[in-house]
Amino acid sequence: MRITFLGTGGGRFATISQKRMTGGFRIDDFNGKNYHIDPGPGALVRSYQFGVDPKRLDGIFVSHAHTDHYTDTEVLIEAMTRGMTKENGVIMGSRSVFEGFKEWGPCVSKYHKTNSENLILGPNKSKTLDNMTIKGTKTVHGDPTYVGFQMEHDDFRLSYTADTSYFDKLPNYHKNANILIASVIRPGSKSIKGHMSSDRFLQLIEEVKPDLAIMTHFGLKMLNANPILEAKNILSKTGIKTIAAFDGMSLDINLVNPAKSKFISLKDNVARSFKTSQQSTFGSIINKKENNYNNKVVSYTRDFGEK
Ligand SMILES: [Zn+2]
Ligand SMILES: [Zn+2]
Repeated sequence: MRITFLGTGGGRFATISQKRMTGGFRIDDFNGKNYHIDPGPGALVRSYQFGVDPKRLDGIFVSHAHTDHYTDTEVLIEAMTRGMTKENGVIMGSRSVFEGFKEWGPCVSKYHKTNSENLILGPNKSKTLDNMTIKGTKTVHGDPTYVGFQMEHDDFRLSYTADTSYFDKLPNYHKNANILIASVIRPGSKSIKGHMSSDRFLQLIEEVKPDLAIMTHFGLKMLNANPILEAKNILSKTGIKTIAAFDGMSLDINLVNPAKSKFISLKDNVARSFKTSQQSTFGSIINKKENNYNNKVVSYTRDFGEK
């Protein structure tokens, strides 16, 4: 199984400025199937940039009706169905994605719904799909139909919180996750309604105890604080491997021990510069590499104009 991040920016201002890309992420070879999760603006273009083929999709999952999660959905449906000439794949998402909720959505036209199975996922609802179970997980983010999910196959579980604030029962929805992917829009304790900050993600990790935690969906304040330093802080406090995703990051998942998953080398230069910084975070001799690591962090934040 491979997970590729086609964008790690989130929220309105990171999205409209494209300080980070916003194409969501791909899960390839989950039980032999390929899924695109939350295809925000640029998802189609980033797929080709980072070497995943949108024509080889089996499913598209859209957690909710905000532009940073759905914008490229219809064009990916066209890719999945070979330009709407074939019946193929599944579109999964919240009720608001399919039917709209108040002023939000719907995000998929009637035309684009016709050639794929439509699967409305609700909080606390489970569906069986391609020999996996997919469970909708509750979010607190506005529209009550919004969902995250947990995919399970062969006793392996991948959980995605989507956008949500932390709430008491959130860990229950993601318990037993081997891999936990979360939208963490702000650093430290800087909270914002309907979203998690790093401190809240740390709390979630302590309760869920995944093998591997990945944070993504960064807003401008998080980018200024540097998500790699936030992830490093979580790792040092929890002992759980925590990665701040970067645009183009691709992980070859070790299903037996997800913490030992490997970065896949990429041709894209931007992704490579992030990868080098990130790997030094988890190097076995972190302290010796500290100066080197800090220099690299400074150089790539400068390259991204975040300073
Ligand atoms: Zn969002
Ligand atoms: Zn949202």
